[in-house]
Amino acid sequence: MKVVVADKCGFCLGVRRAISLAEQTLEENGGFYSFGPIIHNADVVEKLAKKGLETVDSIDEIESGRILIRSHGATRKQINEIKDRGLDITDATCVLVKRVQNIANELESDGYQVVIVGDHGHPEVQAIRGSTDYAIVVDGIEELSKIRYNKKLGVICQTTQSPQHFGNMVSAIMQHGFGEIKVVNTLCGEAIKRQESAAELCRDVDVMFVLGGKHSANTKKLAELCKKYNNNTFHLQNKDELDEKMVSGMSVAGVTAGASTPDWVIREFVEELEKL
Ligand code: SF4
Repeated sequence: MKVVVADKCGFCLGVRRAISLAEQTLEENGGFYSFGPIIHNADVVEKLAKKGLETVDSIDEIESGRILIRSHGATRKQINEIKDRGLDITDATCVLVKRVQNIANELESDGYQVVIVGDHGHPEVQAIRGSTDYAIVVDGIEELSKIRYNKKLGVICQTTQSPQHFGNMVSAIMQHGFGEIKVVNTLCGEAIKRQESAAELCRDVDVMFVLGGKHSANTKKLAELCKKYNNNTFHLQNKDELDEKMVSGMSVAGVTAGASTPDWVIREFVEELEKL
């Protein structure tokens, strides 16, 4: 089977930096804690756990030591709690996420009602919201009724949303008659390049594979996008989920991967696929 890998796929800059910071800290200081899984990829979390990076869901679970803030960032309240407990911090918040937090803060200080277009449950969105006092999160057009009409709005976006969704939401907000709307494009260029490169590849292949954790928001978005352009799209975690039936009667397969999928998962998958 001929296999074509998307030009841009796999680890983004923010994830690479978080992992290398974690590895460096493990080497220098020994075992420590990660506040939530370092990335949404079970293989990487397991690998780092063996080296001493223990994932905790709550700061209360830690009496002393060091804690990693992952690339999604943390809320002001969480950072204060960490400091109050006297824990050391390894801050792996992606610079692009930090930028969005700062923008949200500045907009709020300037009197704007901050509106974040994003997934309610995503840790990055919660961290951006939690770096302000009053920001509102809206996922879809049906949620726009949450915004009060007398406000001037500062609209920003979760870094990994698609430009199409952000554009649709901004357009819908514009039609609601607010007096002043300031839109700041906070989409991540890395995520957009992955989406564009995957969409392009989808058109030229018989079957498309999107590799990455089932909880990874950007991988899920990538899989939804690929499905639009190629109905034979499969979202798999790794080579173990590959089934020969998926490629039966097909000759060209495309492969892309979310920003939290390591190179070795992609490599192993491609090798397995090429054997079919
Ligand atoms: S997808 Fe973009 S914003 Fe998110 S961690 Fe990676 S580089 Fe940073």
